[in-house]
Amino acid sequence: MSSADPNYTDANYKEERRNKRPYLFYSATRALCSKCLLVCDAKELVEDGKVYLWKRCLQHGPERVLLSDDVDYFKLCREVYLKPPEQVEQYNTGVKYGCPYDCGICPDHEQHGCVSLVEVTDHCNLRCPTCFASSGPERQTVRSMEQIEAMLDRVVANEGTAEVVQISGGEPTTHPQFFDILDACRQRPIKHLMVNTNGLRIAREQGFAERLAQYQPGFEIYLQFDGLTDEITQDLRGADLTEIKYKAIERLNEVGLSTTLVATLKRDVNDHAIGQIIEFAAKQPAVRGVTLQPIHDSGRNEDFNPDANRFPLSEVRRRLVEQFPTFTAADVLPVPCNPDSIAMAYALRGEGDEHSTLTPLTRYIPPEVLLDAGGNTIVYEGDKPLLGAAMKQIFETFSTSHGPEGAGNALRDLLCCLPQVEAMPNLGYERVFRIIIMAFLDKHTLDLRSVRKSCVHVPSRDGSKMIPLDTYNIFYRDEPERQHLQQLRQITTTGLRKTQTYGAV
Ligand code: SF4
Ligand code: SF4
Repeated sequence: MSSADPNYTDANYKEERRNKRPYLFYSATRALCSKCLLVCDAKELVEDGKVYLWKRCLQHGPERVLLSDDVDYFKLCREVYLKPPEQVEQYNTGVKYGCPYDCGICPDHEQHGCVSLVEVTDHCNLRCPTCFASSGPERQTVRSMEQIEAMLDRVVANEGTAEVVQISGGEPTTHPQFFDILDACRQRPIKHLMVNTNGLRIAREQGFAERLAQYQPGFEIYLQFDGLTDEITQDLRGADLTEIKYKAIERLNEVGLSTTLVATLKRDVNDHAIGQIIEFAAKQPAVRGVTLQPIHDSGRNEDFNPDANRFPLSEVRRRLVEQFPTFTAADVLPVPCNPDSIAMAYALRGEGDEHSTLTPLTRYIPPEVLLDAGGNTIVYEGDKPLLGAAMKQIFETFSTSHGPEGAGNALRDLLCCLPQVEAMPNLGYERVFRIIIMAFLDKHTLDLRSVRKSCVHVPSRDGSKMIPLDTYNIFYRDEPERQHLQQLRQITTTGLRKTQTYGAV
């Protein structure tokens, strides 16, 4: 019997193994019961080379959730790739009900918003079976310009100069004042502005990509792209979209508009296609990288089976290097501000006809360089000798092109917690190729240790606060979630909850 068995008790183990449990106890934490969303005690257990979150709700009993299938990588995240948390400029709430019922950002949170996600509409021109915002054509609510300005002001109040703002939805390009929103962003201190889009308007509307390209530099399209076949887009998006995605990318290439391809990964649907997506992306002149997001259980998630469909970040990392062996595991590193949820790999592109040739870089960055909290900047020559000779040689080999954006932005542009790499004056943004794995927490995986590091923050609709995306999806997005939160807060303050006794020894 393993700890997965709901009937597991210490008594079983006494019979079978005389006081020895079949796992290593790694740590204790607090997590959410996926049924009632109340906080419950939890443990992290290492068993058969995997790491599990083992929870016990006093009302609904035990649950076991796979956190990682790679113990070594798990320990790398937990024990090596850590750095002092960078804080927001302002906290927006106090601590009253306890995490995660106080968002946010409350003083107990441990990371500022590396990415601020501003949702400007609930409407969408698709109705994907998988949509954490539950958007669709039937939803007609759009935020007013007044609301959006207040949301952007909240981002700036919390972040000062915001590193990355993503305009999102629903489908943001359907907002009737879409370009006014981009103009409002441009009037504020935002270093890098992105538009999260399904690409339909870019593909269908002549001149739309050209108009978007005028917002460069410091502007990028974050394009939904789940794979190269209609079978994949049918499953995840409910429509045959391959041709329209190709058309959108063709237009983005024509106008040279920096683009990241963003794939939602679902087991047995497109987990085999990671290598194909990266190979395709590397051939596109405008594409700067790929973001891989393993599916999480939020919003509309038709036919989602948490056991069968989910797969953890560690498995995405492993499948990536199996399917695209240009990268090795040593190239895909935890991002120190939020290592549980984000991993990255950087490569340099070749020049001219060699544009699709990728030379991985991250393997040459020792952890102490990434974790250097000092100025958070790598100076290529001079006072940071930790930058290895091999990396220096690569930069020298490749630093011959002239790009539109400063080299100092290249590594740091989308993950502000990374160091800047300076003194590569001729290496432009178009020479950098970036792979990010971003695994959001859901009601199954959320624990109170990791959620405090959540670094994608969402302004509330009234602009009064920023809320981590992971908790926003569970508790704060729409009216049903907010009503449930009120009940949870009440239970938390009154202590009134149903209990049963489980697993008595
Ligand atoms: S998730 Fe962060 S902001 Fe929200 S209650 Fe917990 S510590 Fe506070
Ligand atoms: S996932 Fe994106 S494209 Fe699909 S319905 Fe949601 S907002 Fe629209």
